Amino acid sequence: MYDVIVVGARCAGSPLAMLLARRGHKVLVVDRATFPSDTVSTHYIHQAGLARLRDWGILDRLVATGVPAMRHMVFTYTDITLTGFADPIEGITEAYSPRRTVLDTILVDEARSAGAEVVEGFTVTGVVFDDGRAAGVRGRVGDGPEQEFRARFVVGADGRNSTVAGLVGAEIYRSVPAACFVYYSYYSGLDWTFHHRTGFDLQQFGAWPTHDGQHLIAVMRRKDRMREFRADVEGNFHEIYDQIDPRLGEELRTKGKREENFRAMAYPDNFYRRSAGPGWALVGDAGYHKDPFTGWGISDALKYTEVLAEKLDEGLAGQRPIDEAVLEYTKIRDAESNGTFELTCSVSELSLTPYYDSVFRATSWSPEYTKKFFGLIGGGIHGEEFFAPAALEQLYEEVDYPVDRRFTTQS
Ligand SMILES: Cc1cc2nc3c(=O)[nH]c(=O)nc-3n(C[C@H](O)[C@H](O)[C@H](O)COP(=O)(O)OP(=O)(O)OC[C@H]3O[C@@H](n4cnc5c(N)ncnc54)[C@H](O)[C@@H]3O)c2cc1C
Repeated sequence: MYDVIVVGARCAGSPLAMLLARRGHKVLVVDRATFPSDTVSTHYIHQAGLARLRDWGILDRLVATGVPAMRHMVFTYTDITLTGFADPIEGITEAYSPRRTVLDTILVDEARSAGAEVVEGFTVTGVVFDDGRAAGVRGRVGDGPEQEFRARFVVGADGRNSTVAGLVGAEIYRSVPAACFVYYSYYSGLDWTFHHRTGFDLQQFGAWPTHDGQHLIAVMRRKDRMREFRADVEGNFHEIYDQIDPRLGEELRTKGKREENFRAMAYPDNFYRRSAGPGWALVGDAGYHKDPFTGWGISDALKYTEVLAEKLDEGLAGQRPIDEAVLEYTKIRDAESNGTFELTCSVSELSLTPYYDSVFRATSWSPEYTKKFFGLIGGGIHGEEFFAPAALEQLYEEVDYPVDRRFTTQS
């Protein structure tokens, strides 16, 4: 009998297992994957997410794998340009984009070292209930016999298509359609910094350094252009770079060498799913998923996993009823992530609303507010502070922004 069974062992599941095991709880974490294992993700981690890894004593281990540090960013949205980097956030002075084969393997390993039992290659197919309360899982390794494990609490950290969510009947209560598809691959031969560039023609590219001297090179367009894109992937891929930044487009053609096949995905919709119930919880993408445009999936998984671990610990230690404690985790997550969710859903449309256009354009005219922008991006400044109407009024005044375009609220 375990205290907690965690289904899914990547950014949300393994840290949860690790944190609970470190507090002396008996934890089982299972994943149908065997590690090292890749997953479709462009793997940028913000400073606020890295601060979690640092607090858990894992960041040095990640940095020692040779993942390059990023200390400069170039953001463009049509003709708005923002360059710079955030001031230290919780003492973190740089950002990283580790390959998931590296990051997730470290996370699994740290969970195991902390004392959690890890079973790889195990696919969960059922949740066991006792009197309507989740009390374990069923599943199997490959074609092996079905096995059942019991626990006081079950957590689904099994990604946006969560099996656990389906088995416990967790419904989606907020959903926003995703606008785009992505194609990406890994290129050697480039010495670029971080680029996040959205052009005029509803298209975007992202580029940032990762392991092995390579760059993650990605493009996005809206889904209605996916069929046309597929007809000539390589040509269309380069066309987006050429159209948004001809100089970088030329460098990609002449210096860049694609090292792997393209990965592609039409983005699934953004959503919040009910993430607490009798004996169960959901964490990471299983409970809250948004477009990768703002790169907050991993950092949020790390952040809210820590909150869930704390609440589960309170319940397991008998300080308060466990379901009540876990329900509070979902309230904290929803309240704190709302701004990121709304911003992500809006800017990932690849066209700015008049409000965001004014805010970001005015920001680009102010060195001080540009600094704040990077603080927002890195997770050091909350959206409520950055987008506070009074602060925006002050910004517009400071940069002498045209009066008829001074939007201080979305509507
Ligand atoms: C194209 C793309 C680009 C992205 N880029 C970024 C980025 O730059 N930065 C960022 O922060 N985020 C990015 N994200 C989002 C990020 O990848 C996710 O938010 C993050 O992986 C969520 O972590 P997780 O642990 O919740 O779930 P996942 O990483 O999805 O892990 C879930 C795990 O559960 C396991 N599992 C599922 N079902 C079962 C089952 N039935 N039994 C056993 N195991 C099971 C899976 O094998 C998997 O290992 C991107 C996503 C996409 C699609």
